[in-house]
Amino acid sequence: MKKSKREIDSHLPSFRSQLTLLRNEIIKRNQVPEDVDVSGDETDLVQGTFIVEMSNKLSARDHIAMVKIDKSIEKIDNNTYGICDECEEEIPLRRLQANLTCSCCVLCAEAAEKRK
Ligand SMILES: [Zn+2]
Repeated sequence: MKKSKREIDSHLPSFRSQLTLLRNEIIKRNQVPEDVDVSGDETDLVQGTFIVEMSNKLSARDHIAMVKIDKSIEKIDNNTYGICDECEEEIPLRRLQANLTCSCCVLCAEAAEKRK
């Protein structure tokens, strides 16, 4: 992997906050009314264990979305966000902006599509 500064670097803080927002939306959507409110600063505290406790309650679709979001946030923290899972090429910034949790480049996505 290249160590040089990438174009995407300056966008990472914004990507990260957008992903966190998406994550909070899913949590809120799946929240049962009796549960504690996870809005605001408390969210950061519960995030680590939340997925384990919540995963059974999430709808299948939200669960998949949640896993993708978590993976993307993890990648941002590991500085591997925007790198294709398959070929390790950089994913174009515009593609990421269109789909924040995108984990592979156009070519690999097309190849995966064909394998289905
Ligand atoms: Zn690729």
